[in-house]
Amino acid sequence: MRKQIAAANWKMNLTVGQAEKLLTDLLSGDWTLSPHQEVLFAVPSPYLYLALKAVKASHKSNVFICSQNCYSEQSGAYTGETSAEMLQSLGVTHVILGHSERREYFNETDEMLAKKVDISLLHDLTPVFCCGEPLSVREAGTQNAYVAKQIERSLFHLSSDALQKIVIAYEPIWAIGTGKTATSAQAQEMHAFLRSILVKKYGLAVAGNIPILYGGSVKAANAGEIFAETDVDGGLVGGASLVAREFEAIIRALK
Ligand code: PEP
Repeated sequence: MRKQIAAANWKMNLTVGQAEKLLTDLLSGDWTLSPHQEVLFAVPSPYLYLALKAVKASHKSNVFICSQNCYSEQSGAYTGETSAEMLQSLGVTHVILGHSERREYFNETDEMLAKKVDISLLHDLTPVFCCGEPLSVREAGTQNAYVAKQIERSLFHLSSDALQKIVIAYEPIWAIGTGKTATSAQAQEMHAFLRSILVKKYGLAVAGNIPILYGGSVKAANAGEIFAETDVDGGLVGGASLVAREFEAIIRALK
């Protein structure tokens, strides 16, 4: 069975005390994961180490710590950046790449993201690769071509072996942090399309195993319906991941 993943993206939120409390509340919750299910916490960089320690102490299995970004170069004079090798050396296992906020506010391009994907894989980090269209593209009805281009430019240079290590997150920009969720049918339609282009390039045996998460105003009240769709393999969750009982309910909604 394909992996089903609930990924919390805390973005640039919480003080250290609030971060510790949220982790304690969530990790002490009465939930366990099936072998094919995973939970990721993409915490701000200063909290990666404490989050790793908290997960270890909780003895919960299939819970991993994720960076929200990494730099495209190996090391050197890049003040303020974090390398994939540093993350690997800490014990971080996943990294979000290409979030629409990084693309918009930090001018991350598809080409730059291809380099970030490569260096992440080199250091055994699983990229959670984000794609998704703005509202104008959705209104023009050209979202499939738009998202396909993002995937092709940043991922299609990968071998089949490398692609199998990727998690994709489809996040329509118009649904992120807006309270406006794509309908489960819209999510399924795009996820099926994404899987079809992966099948065309890599074959069903590879593409059938790539988790495709949905992101955009997922909350406890809608997670079950969205995750129930055939090609939706969980969610990348912003706002609702900052509230313990909300995110716990989202974890419970995994297939
Ligand atoms: C996100 O930041 O990836 C996201 C989906 O945010 P939200 O759930 O708040 O829309």
